[in-house]
Amino acid sequence: MANDPNQDSTYRLRVEALQKVIDGIPRFKYWIAQATNEQHAQQQARQQQSLAQQQADLAQEQARALALQEQQQQAVAHQERQARGQWLFWIGLVFAAIVAGWVWHRFIRHRCPSCKSLNVHCTGQAELDRFKGRIKVREKNSRGTNTRFMSTTFVINRYDYACDECDHTWSEKKKEELGA
Ligand SMILES: [Zn+2]
Repeated sequence: MANDPNQDSTYRLRVEALQKVIDGIPRFKYWIAQATNEQHAQQQARQQQSLAQQQADLAQEQARALALQEQQQQAVAHQERQARGQWLFWIGLVFAAIVAGWVWHRFIRHRCPSCKSLNVHCTGQAELDRFKGRIKVREKNSRGTNTRFMSTTFVINRYDYACDECDHTWSEKKKEELGA
């Protein structure tokens, strides 16, 4: 009797408890596997999220760089336009000066009426007439432009010229304003 352990109630209870533990092992294994899987899935999701974030950051940075590049290109284009405008302004100014010089040389500069030489000089000046007159004066004020008349003195002067090339002499009359 004493040789059969199943007869011992303590032994039977222990075996039952042990059996329960052994029966529970697969479920325990399943839980662990489940938890591990879940952890893996979470890790993967985190990795994907961080990858997506990195890609988004990269795209944003590229967009920023592109915008900056475009801005710089626009600034350069603006500067080039300005430089071109300045060049055109200076070329126009030089051209106008050349034209003005030519006109002055061709039509205004004193020449001998006989031989067209430019080597002429003034030999004398005489006042022929003097009279009071009125001139129109435009004034700007806060209400706009105002026109009024001022009295002034006019002088008719005669200038005598002599040509150095052909000794021709001639005179020119000029009306000049002396002031009030
Ligand atoms: Zn002459």
